Amino acid sequence: MSNPLYSLLATHAETDAVLFTGTHDADIRYKQFFTTVARAASVLVDQGVNAGDRVALQTTKSIDALAVYVACAKIGAVFLPLNTAYTLRETEFFLQDAGVSVFITSSEREAVLLTADVKNVQDPMKVMSLDGDGSGSFSDAMTQADTLDTVASVSSSDLGAILYTSGTTGRSKGAMLSQDNLASNTRVLVDYWQFTADDCLLHALPIYHTHGLFVACNVILASGASMIFQPSFNVDAVLAELPQANTMMGVPTFYTRLLVDERFDADTTKHMRLFTSGSAPMLAETHTQFEERTGLRILERYGMTETGMLTSNPYLTSAGARKPGTVGLPLPGVSLRIKDEETAQDVAQGSIGMIEVTGPNVFKGYWNLPEKTTEEFTSDGFFITGDLGFLDDDGYVTIVGRNKDLIISGGFNVYPKEVELLIDEVVGIKESAVIGLPHTDFGEAVTAVLVVEAEHTDSGEGVESPVIGRVKSHLSDELAKFKQPKQYVILDELPRNAMGKVQKNRLREQYDHLYRG
Ligand code: AMP
Repeated sequence: MSNPLYSLLATHAETDAVLFTGTHDADIRYKQFFTTVARAASVLVDQGVNAGDRVALQTTKSIDALAVYVACAKIGAVFLPLNTAYTLRETEFFLQDAGVSVFITSSEREAVLLTADVKNVQDPMKVMSLDGDGSGSFSDAMTQADTLDTVASVSSSDLGAILYTSGTTGRSKGAMLSQDNLASNTRVLVDYWQFTADDCLLHALPIYHTHGLFVACNVILASGASMIFQPSFNVDAVLAELPQANTMMGVPTFYTRLLVDERFDADTTKHMRLFTSGSAPMLAETHTQFEERTGLRILERYGMTETGMLTSNPYLTSAGARKPGTVGLPLPGVSLRIKDEETAQDVAQGSIGMIEVTGPNVFKGYWNLPEKTTEEFTSDGFFITGDLGFLDDDGYVTIVGRNKDLIISGGFNVYPKEVELLIDEVVGIKESAVIGLPHTDFGEAVTAVLVVEAEHTDSGEGVESPVIGRVKSHLSDELAKFKQPKQYVILDELPRNAMGKVQKNRLREQYDHLYRG
């Protein structure tokens, strides 16, 4: 039998070790969870799912929902998790694009789909439900199902999952991840971050995204550790259950929100061996603030849906090992290089360019989009990440933005991150997003969208906010004229996607006409 992904996830399936724990619910052991997995696998097979078929899941985060993922691995089906925030229309696109065999969703959506004339969805797609409270047609079927003991034999290049990219830079594309992409990345992370059966992870991430699903759950299952599965991120809930955990994985907003709460301090975190951050850029300032407050250094890492994890700051906590503002070093097995976007030549050490990667973790391409796949790989097989960055003298990677973010104004390149970092230094600025907007003269005009702290928002009618005055004066001291924003917009908050990433495309759309009368 060969099944690289399931074999890894089921390493501890026969043990009595605790897998799910927490202050509210009874512990669930590996053996129990894998019985649920075997029932879920049996339901899927009863529904006609074969190895290679796509099974989509769009439900509230729950242990049973995770069991569906592991059940797919067991029967060799391709798991396709979907964000619950997608509208029915958006969801239909994914179901149709991937040719889904079984779609497991909420009973509410199941009812709509079973009655509505759903266009574009492959017939005969089966729709079932799994609700957060344990009800639904899939749950009912599971309680009646036998356990399926056989494990499908699949090869390492067969697909384990399709994840649609979050679409911050255009139409969603289905990233095809093979059994080996997922298994190899899991093994590397377990080792690099030193996970063992003694660990307990506080899990507050969604499980429809690579971070919460593969980085977090795969690592825990493969190492025989336990986790506290919280429905979503909530400061009070995290503080209540942190004493039981010794590790936590988060996005930067988790940490900035925790730092706002004075209860989060050296005492509440002293037993923690690891906090990791990723999925969106973390300010060096957050890293420093975290260290000042807790005495601990967050380990920042970088990766993406298409590749899994690519780089990580070292596990070593000695001074200088985890560098604030950087995403660390390429993980074992990953080759990472920085190329000039125009010439496709290596850039000089320390210069900014396009990050390109290769390794066993890099995906097989975009589902049904062979041309797009070809475009995004170099002729020698490196994936063009779309992220711009540079390497320091020690080989640490710093991300400066996405190539879409790059602004070209009057023929000069402006990296938004450079401008944002300076704006964020100004008193009264909470955060900022710098974007390029169409401009007849310059091509693109550098534009700053600001979020101002409450106590600095006052300005009289027709009077420029004093905080904008301060930003302008600071930037004119620090930046070449072509990099200075031509206009400023103040918003209450920046639009963000579910992973906390600022959606610059939405800002670009909203202010598209700012310079065009
Ligand atoms: P996703 O596929 O949704 O995980 O998004 C991947 C993108 O998130 C990457 O291409 C980066 O632009 C960004 N990203 C992930 N981790 C980091 C990080 N530590 N710092 C900066 N950007 C990051």
